[in-house]
Amino acid sequence: MDSPQVLNANLLPSLDYITEFKDKTDFEEEINHAWRRAESECVENLLEHSQISEEMNQKIYDIAFNLAHSLRDRKSSSGKAGIVQGLLQEFSLSSQEGIALMCLAEALLRIPDSATRDLLIRDKINQGNWKDHLGQSNLMFVNAAAWGLMLTGKLMETPKQTSLSGILTSLLARTGKGIIRKAVDAAMRMMGEQFVTGETIGEALDNAKTLEDKGFRYSYDMLGEAALTEHDADRYFEDYTQAIHAIGKASEGKDVYTGPGISIKLSALHPRYQRSQTERVHHELYPRILNLALLAKTYDIGLNIDAEEADRLELSLELLERLCFEPQLANWKGIGFVIQAYQKRCFYVVDYIIDLAKRSQKRLMIRLVKGAYWDSEIKKAQIDGMSDYPVFTRKVHTDLSYIACAKKLLAAPDQVYPQFATHNAQTLATIYELADPQKYYLGQYEFQCLHGMGEPLYEQVVGKVSDQKLGIPCRIYAPVGNHETLLAYLVRRLLENGANTSFVNRIADKNIKIEDLIENPVQEILHTAEKEHAVGLKHPAIPLPHDLYQGIRQNSQGLDLADDSKLQDLNQAVQHYLKHQWNSYSLVDQLDLQDLAEINSQEIRNPADHSDLVGYVIEAETAQVDLALDNAYQAFENWKNASQDFRAELLLKAAAIMESRIQELMVLLCRESGKTYSNGIAEVREAVDFLRYYAAQMQSIDENGTLSPLGTILCISPWNFPLAIFTGQISAALVEGNTVIAKPAEQTPLIAAQAIQILW
Ligand code: FAD
Repeated sequence: MDSPQVLNANLLPSLDYITEFKDKTDFEEEINHAWRRAESECVENLLEHSQISEEMNQKIYDIAFNLAHSLRDRKSSSGKAGIVQGLLQEFSLSSQEGIALMCLAEALLRIPDSATRDLLIRDKINQGNWKDHLGQSNLMFVNAAAWGLMLTGKLMETPKQTSLSGILTSLLARTGKGIIRKAVDAAMRMMGEQFVTGETIGEALDNAKTLEDKGFRYSYDMLGEAALTEHDADRYFEDYTQAIHAIGKASEGKDVYTGPGISIKLSALHPRYQRSQTERVHHELYPRILNLALLAKTYDIGLNIDAEEADRLELSLELLERLCFEPQLANWKGIGFVIQAYQKRCFYVVDYIIDLAKRSQKRLMIRLVKGAYWDSEIKKAQIDGMSDYPVFTRKVHTDLSYIACAKKLLAAPDQVYPQFATHNAQTLATIYELADPQKYYLGQYEFQCLHGMGEPLYEQVVGKVSDQKLGIPCRIYAPVGNHETLLAYLVRRLLENGANTSFVNRIADKNIKIEDLIENPVQEILHTAEKEHAVGLKHPAIPLPHDLYQGIRQNSQGLDLADDSKLQDLNQAVQHYLKHQWNSYSLVDQLDLQDLAEINSQEIRNPADHSDLVGYVIEAETAQVDLALDNAYQAFENWKNASQDFRAELLLKAAAIMESRIQELMVLLCRESGKTYSNGIAEVREAVDFLRYYAAQMQSIDENGTLSPLGTILCISPWNFPLAIFTGQISAALVEGNTVIAKPAEQTPLIAAQAIQILW
């Protein structure tokens, strides 16, 4: 829960920390606008900045073809897939049983302590009744395609979830108890080997030596993210500190470019790393980052800030800005930052970063990635009712954005050391040519790949040109940690491997021709534009969040609490409503309310701050209740006979009014029932959704259908959802042709009165 103080505080955090250094730059304005731009507009702009000559395109094609061709050959014959195939051989499993077992092992990983996990395997799983203990069996098999790919090294038809479930049950019934235990252990170990460089930093540094000897470099990632408590954050901080010491010693005086480095996640260092907690982030998280940076500087190893969810971008840029101007970090080139090409803003973030480097006289290490949170960004925007998505909806648009951003980064060699992280041979070849291989110099740029995923591709890249390699260095991102900390990372990698648009997935599918695999994104976009008669349209199967229930009803609109420009507007409204008082009284006898305090009224105070008087309530007397019942009874006949459409239309109208008053209702909910702002928004939206949902239900029922209204319905609602449940009950009853007497919870009559007035 947000702390109660936040309710009365200014929604806009004071940005003193930043304004000390600068005014908001034009680049930041651009970053903010780009989020709301239509995808097609962004793509048109990117196309202008991604022009590549015919001659260069041909060279890119040739290199990409060769890389992809040898990669496909290697994949099927050897490599990681081979190790994982050991599982099948060791336990004489069919590949389908192997897939089912990997799914089971992944589900078991979600049990946080190994003692409980062991007990569960021993007592329950071995008996075959795993379904009762691992939640919904279907959910367990969501990653089956990715496991299939990794177990066998090739895409195979993924068995249906029901048959996987049958396979697992019969496997458990058939196999001896000890064997399952061992097989699950082996499966977990393999997940570790596939994705993790070592359980400890010492082990990882040792394991890295083989590829370092071949010219690879490393950036270590101490697994763990999204600290939920201060204790978690302390532990991760300690892990990072120890890791920097170890990596620093192993670096043996190399510099940030040639030596190993560390990657950190800010969500691991603070449990409330989010926009609504900006001040705490600056006061509490920033000193931790600075400490780590100072330590990294003493060893001259690079410290890179990983990119996470899109709504954290602006916050992380603020922290980066402070870091760059830190006098103690002057003359150090090791500050690293990740930018995500799938964000519509990325192109402008590059401008901002180059400008920042100029202003602070730094050369920044900038890792360009496509972005690992695509599924959750899309889903979150839909759930939150955003006006658009922060990310592109077609993969090829992300690919294009990557090229446009790469061009800009390469054109600013004094300000940035670009680090191109990709497993896609076409993207790799494009960067290689854009950077002009004839002019390559040590320290110009590097590639990056993930441990366990990118080595086969980059073994063709790292090394001498005389050995038929491309002669460009590659840094391996090397996760370090044990099974307990692996899960969030593992799930992202599985989504990546399992997505049928991803390069690593498609390269394994021999039905896809190499030519198709390495198609140039500009050409692909132009081909699609010909068919669709427009450039850069968003994916046809991904409607904008407000059209999510296409043709049925509109999704309710949210308010984006991470958007500074929206916050400014919201802040004004909030300041106004923080002082406002509301009244609530029975509406049946048209009371004249000249002076509420003089009538028998009661105060309603903010449960989180008793000095805050939110308004007054006059509770109904028995006579008013009788009158209400009477009115409802009298009105029933007319209301019942009104057309269904008419009743539905009224609900829709109420939804529109409620949505237009979201700012006021949100503040009232916060003050009367002690909700946080985000809970307040969610509640108003739920009420709006109820109104639209019941209206749509009514509109879908045949006018002469079997509706039989009951008469007068009494609706009593609880205090915990004083608007949403209140509105939901009433609107469901009303739209069917009933009349309604509504009694709100005694703690929350003010918001209920607003809902009733809106309905009236
Ligand atoms: P490709 O197969 O060419 O591209 C896959 C990517 O395309 C997806 O990951 C997604 O970004 C994008 N995409 C897929 N479908 C769609 C769609 N429908 N619409 C729009 N875009 C789509 N990611 C982070 O977020 N933060 C990090 O800090 C980070 N660090 C990384 C470090 C390294 C060294 C590497 C190699 C990757 C890192 N990643 C990080 C992951 C990265 O963002 C990509 O998920 C991953 O590299 C896959 O991209 P690709 O170019 O290799 O493969």
